[in-house]
Amino acid sequence: MTFEEKYKILGTKNTQYDGIFFTAVKSTGIFCHPSCRARVPLIKNVIFYDTIQAALENGYRPCKICKPVEKIGQTPENIKRIISELLQNPHEKISDEDLKAKNIEPHTIRRWFKKNYQMTFHSFQRMLRINYAFNHIRDGKSVTHAAFECGYASLSGFNESYRSIFGESAGKSKNKSLINVLRFSSPIGSIIACATEKGVCFLGFVGQKRLEAQFSALQKHLNAIILPGKNPHLSQVKQEINEYFAGERKDFSVALDIIGTDFRKQVWQSLLQIPYGKTVSYKAQALAINNIKAVRAVASANGANKISLIIPCHRVIGSNGSLTGYAGGLQKKQWLLNFEKENSNQPVQQVLNL
Ligand SMILES: [Zn+2]
Repeated sequence: MTFEEKYKILGTKNTQYDGIFFTAVKSTGIFCHPSCRARVPLIKNVIFYDTIQAALENGYRPCKICKPVEKIGQTPENIKRIISELLQNPHEKISDEDLKAKNIEPHTIRRWFKKNYQMTFHSFQRMLRINYAFNHIRDGKSVTHAAFECGYASLSGFNESYRSIFGESAGKSKNKSLINVLRFSSPIGSIIACATEKGVCFLGFVGQKRLEAQFSALQKHLNAIILPGKNPHLSQVKQEINEYFAGERKDFSVALDIIGTDFRKQVWQSLLQIPYGKTVSYKAQALAINNIKAVRAVASANGANKISLIIPCHRVIGSNGSLTGYAGGLQKKQWLLNFEKENSNQPVQQVLNL
């Protein structure tokens, strides 16, 4: 991006570039995210930096309004505590009064859930309870037992809730499976991950294109429902992705549940062969699967990749070196390629500790 292109983004409140570059202001000595709500600085006072380190090293202080050194999309401490409390006791109900007693403004938490989980705080709690009940039923417990165990006062209330989520009654859904979802932060935006019992089946960025379509396809294909809940593959993938962004991990070992046609699976397998810090062209990738005529089909399979970062579709570029496409946005693709390149020939960098 040119200086002018970056400057044009300031003041538009577009968060897509947060973490991609930082705006430092010579007259105030402060640096910001491009989406900062503060007044747009005069063009002559602006310097752009690609990293927080560079802005700090040049003597700039983080802005108190947009807080650029805090990870983007990071879960606030008090919300983190509420989520972990609910995961420990899924049958617990947290009311507005409980929140106020904990010094949390109910309005703030509702807005946060709506933005980050695309559901209300109330439905998040309801879904956790249903998830808990679902596992009880599948373990062979009775529907009545499950309903009372997860805090429903009446069986009919439970059945109604259950049906509204699963589309069928609790007694019928023993054959249905579950996809768990977890959201966590990264330096280039919030990440959303899904996993089945077998492994991670989705990893992408909050706000990426076609996210909802991908989710409905997954649910349909696996005859499953996506709910927040505990899943060992999700804890592992969060850990590994954090290590990746800290520059400490170049290969992933978390189990994957890869869903797609045989051709697409073959294409994704070939993506897994591209080493960290390297790029290949679509043409080279088609050659790698012995199907030079399939360049277009290869490109479209890459676009349909459901497990970003781990299946590294960001490492495929056009034959002329152009970035072509990326579900998370081209800025993220460029960021990832630069990051891997800088990181690949060096000893592991010291992680910035602020
Ligand atoms: Zn700011």
